[in-house]
Amino acid sequence: MPLHRLQMVLAEAGFKKFRANQIFDWLYRKCVFDFARMTNLSKTERKFFSETFTVLPAEMETVRRLDSSDGLTQKLLLKLPDGNAIESVLMHHDYGYSVCVSSQAGCDMRCAFCASGLNGAVRNLTAAEILSQVYVFNRDLYPKGDRVSRVVVMGSGEPMLNFDAVFEALQFLHQSEAANISYRNMTVSTCGIIPGIEKMKVLGLPISLAVSLHAVKTDLRNELMPINKGFPFADVITAAEDYARSSGRQVTYEYILLAGLNDSDEDAELLANYLRFNLACVNLIPVNPVPEKGFFRPDLKRVEKFLSVLKRHRIQATVRKEMGQDINAACGQLRAAFARNQKSE
Ligand code: SAH
Repeated sequence: MPLHRLQMVLAEAGFKKFRANQIFDWLYRKCVFDFARMTNLSKTERKFFSETFTVLPAEMETVRRLDSSDGLTQKLLLKLPDGNAIESVLMHHDYGYSVCVSSQAGCDMRCAFCASGLNGAVRNLTAAEILSQVYVFNRDLYPKGDRVSRVVVMGSGEPMLNFDAVFEALQFLHQSEAANISYRNMTVSTCGIIPGIEKMKVLGLPISLAVSLHAVKTDLRNELMPINKGFPFADVITAAEDYARSSGRQVTYEYILLAGLNDSDEDAELLANYLRFNLACVNLIPVNPVPEKGFFRPDLKRVEKFLSVLKRHRIQATVRKEMGQDINAACGQLRAAFARNQKSE
């Protein structure tokens, strides 16, 4: 609940308006989600608030937690009050903590290599459900003097199909009295929903855009990402480039490397051609294998060769640092397994 709404609700219930600021401070600065522990409120107030409000991050139950062996990545499967489950990931980089949040429970986009769309109904998450994922982690980090300083909307779901809630959540997290995360440290990743990219431009915030490209041959991209039939990748690149120019933020193109499918030198040449002269960088991602569907990781030599072709064309490119590879089952797999279990119960 935004501060001004909390103030209004409290005023209507006959409480002092400044109580809203105190509650806000407990919830979003100190990450205390239990009204009983808000020591500067009176007993009557604590009782009233406990009976009237729920605090969502406290209601999101961790049903599974995976820690990578290097201790740098933590993946949570969180159960929402309605029984849906979502995945959120905390990553510890040398520059701080970043969180990967989900924007929908499930996904409708049917990308061939992704597990997010398997099993379980799709629904949009609310703004509160999106930003609460950050607070689930902040609750543990705050007592250690740390906090989440980056957010990537790259968990399950297509953020552009839940535009209002995603950007409301990001704007909330940006507030200094909330999570104080700069827009430049936020990235929204899309499979290429052009109207969403255009709306982001109108919003005019310096949030970074990432585009899941993965193929630059029409037949292959149609097959891997059916959304390409509605929004062909060349048009997506044009829209993304337009966003880059208006926001001043470089676009990241995510390119999963799938052995034998999109990882040849010719593919790299094509990709370089499409991105030439653009404010672009490429993030190469060796696929999290989905052997049942025939998706395998190319060997390291192939990855390096692909990268060198891009570099020769002066395309900025990096290979995604593998974080928590030992817990990095294909995206959405935890949730898919959870949904399967629920169905069979
Ligand atoms: N719908 C948005 C954001 C969620 S997916 C989008 O498409 O960008 C986040 C990223 O994970 C996307 O780039 C997606 O293509 C990628 N991804 C999905 N399955 C994967 C897998 N098996 N291995 C590696 N990356 C995968």
